[in-house]
Amino acid sequence: MPTKYIIVTGGVLSGLGKGIASASIGQLLSSRLKIIPLKCDGYLNVDPGTMNPFEHGEVFVLDDGGEVDMDFGHYERFLGVTCKSKWNLTMGKVFDVVRQKERRGDYLGKTVQYIPHVTDVIKSHIFEVAKEESADLVIVEIGGTVGDIENELFLESMRQVKEDVGRENIIYIHLTYVPIPYGVNEQKSKPTQQSVNLLKQRGIFPDVIIGRCSQFLTKEIKAKISNFCDVEPDAVITGLDVEDIYEIPLIFEQEGLAEILHKKLNIYSPPDLRKWKQLIENLRNPTREVTVAMCGKYTKLEDSYASIIESFNHCSAHLGCKINLKWVETTNLEDASFLDDIDGLVVPGGFGSRGTEGKIEVIRLARERNIPFLGLCLGLQLAVIEFARHVCGMEGANSTEMDPNTPYPVIDILPEQRGITEKGGTMRLGAYPAVLKNGTLTRALYGSAEVSERHRHRYEVNPEFHKMIADHGMIFSGCSPDGRLVEFIELPDLKFFVATQAHPELKSRMEAPAPLFHGFVKACMDQKNAMT
Ligand code: GLN
Repeated sequence: MPTKYIIVTGGVLSGLGKGIASASIGQLLSSRLKIIPLKCDGYLNVDPGTMNPFEHGEVFVLDDGGEVDMDFGHYERFLGVTCKSKWNLTMGKVFDVVRQKERRGDYLGKTVQYIPHVTDVIKSHIFEVAKEESADLVIVEIGGTVGDIENELFLESMRQVKEDVGRENIIYIHLTYVPIPYGVNEQKSKPTQQSVNLLKQRGIFPDVIIGRCSQFLTKEIKAKISNFCDVEPDAVITGLDVEDIYEIPLIFEQEGLAEILHKKLNIYSPPDLRKWKQLIENLRNPTREVTVAMCGKYTKLEDSYASIIESFNHCSAHLGCKINLKWVETTNLEDASFLDDIDGLVVPGGFGSRGTEGKIEVIRLARERNIPFLGLCLGLQLAVIEFARHVCGMEGANSTEMDPNTPYPVIDILPEQRGITEKGGTMRLGAYPAVLKNGTLTRALYGSAEVSERHRHRYEVNPEFHKMIADHGMIFSGCSPDGRLVEFIELPDLKFFVATQAHPELKSRMEAPAPLFHGFVKACMDQKNAMT
């Protein structure tokens, strides 16, 4: 079978959930096909690693060390694949290639132009990935909204692709918005019509339209969209607003999307959503409830912590426990009253010194009051600083990231990071193994002696202080195989005080929640029991 292609575009508004729609489409078809998700982003950064999470949401890190768009989190979680950085094509990467080719003389004698030179680079990249991965189906998501200048070249490339692969091997899916204006109380199709027109002006005629709406699309509106936009009536699908994104594949299935895709692409890969349905059922019907404080800096934008939120959803589905996240901004912490109704706290990753003193204070409270605590990356570093200051007596202990002149640099830059001045893709990135110590909680939670988790950091627990800290009772429950790098810590006398230099949230899946999160939520449930 030749490789099939599904191209997903978006119109009317940004933020309609193209990533989740693409991941859900993939999930519906994944039972028998090898599916590769590919995302095209129009920005000129080579990757999102240099962007503030406020601007672009969480930076997702892959096993191979690639820093990619957060949609890759959805792809991995919905499709069960391990993505590669090559599957995220940004305009920054495209122009890099075109410029190198031009300097090398590949275009000698020619005027280098958007069409065909830039579009050829885009298409060859996509075909190369399809070939390397022996993909049955490639789902290409085009970032942004039709009509944006940024994605014009990607759209033009996608228009051309149908000639290269044959019309029978490609379909175009367009995600739009169907508003129900206040006072009119009726589903409206005009924004969809206009955005499909924009797409048609670019030579792309959608085969399927997904209308994001707060209600199921009525038969009438489907007929209208079908008529005005020239798609078959059963190819107009509701993209319902849902409480949990995990419901989207179920909605698409209910709307008959899988059959349409089978028919149009001449494939057969029936959805197998039994297990998924069961987990969603659990998520919808929790029998318990806990409240977890998230002590971060980007708390105003939940997208900055997308994978952590999803990891908690996975735990919810497995433990039948609703997890309320209480966002605590540590830059202006006034007193400890926020602790009154919480059952556990998380200090997530972060960069720079803003808010760190507040987080250290929060960790001290967790330790002293024996409240379950989970530290992630920066969270581990701050837990070590807190312990050094208040248990080991190292007053003024700090990370050299926050205070280069600290008398006790218990957290210091990794030796291999010294002297690196370029910011893009230069951190310690990707999956690294850690050896877990026998008899520790960390090892019990993972249930294995060696684990591999993903990383994104420049600083580490300074080896000069390992002995001093360990002598005071902090257990280094997991280290890099050479023993140099502390990857996991815990305080054995407390109910749950565990932190890691890694980001285990990046590998959490609905079918297999990250073990540290699972253990942490269980500890929060016990904590709540003990309190009531
Ligand atoms: N800023 C810290 C470091 O670079 C922690 C990074 C993180 O939390 N991802 O080591």
